[in-house]
Amino acid sequence: MLQVPSLSTDRASVERLVREILRDRWVGSVPSFREPGKQDGPNPLVVNVSARHVHVTPQDLETLFGPGAQLTVLKSLYQDGEFASEQTVNLIGPRNRMIPNVRILGPTRDYTQIELSYTDGIFLGIDLPLRISGHHEGTPGGVLVGPHGAVNLSAGIIRAQRHVHMSPVDAAHHGVSDGDTMKLRIDGPCGVSFDNTVVRVHPKVKLEVHIDTDEGNACHLSSATHMELIRA
Ligand SMILES: [Zn+2]
Repeated sequence: MLQVPSLSTDRASVERLVREILRDRWVGSVPSFREPGKQDGPNPLVVNVSARHVHVTPQDLETLFGPGAQLTVLKSLYQDGEFASEQTVNLIGPRNRMIPNVRILGPTRDYTQIELSYTDGIFLGIDLPLRISGHHEGTPGGVLVGPHGAVNLSAGIIRAQRHVHMSPVDAAHHGVSDGDTMKLRIDGPCGVSFDNTVVRVHPKVKLEVHIDTDEGNACHLSSATHMELIRA
């Protein structure tokens, strides 16, 4: 039976309850695909949907959340050391439209960047450029608003190009190098092949594809039956 808070429930309890419910919703709402029991290479292929998010510099974090602010972990991500933080900000675009509660991914970086889907861009009125993380030349800016202050960015809003993180071992297995593109084939009721999946090689990463929510919805990742990376 649903437990209804009594009239004596104080505000802090209600806020805690709402936070817990929202946390469960958010953590459970990001699809992931890992084919059970099958492995075509030295490491399992994992595909994860990157929901809209923000990366921030330590300086911008302090502007948004106050002096000395630190990111705190809500949920660890698949890559070691990366996490969804408890901190969120509101994003305001050129038409004064706002996307609330955009999550910050940690740790902090040496640039502030906002990664949105094309659907988000249409809502905000921004013609999003397709970019690899960190490439901000000619990208639009916007305003981030936190509980302590706001940051007015002149650039840094992108639609992240779909990509696959690979260690040198996985790159050698597939015969590809950093910057190459591959085809990501996803089978299932809404099967799709994604061209131009950029290979990003780094010695410390686990094999993982990142697609955004538009792509994850297009292939309905949670009903996928098989997937593979094909050398272009
Ligand atoms: Zn990524």
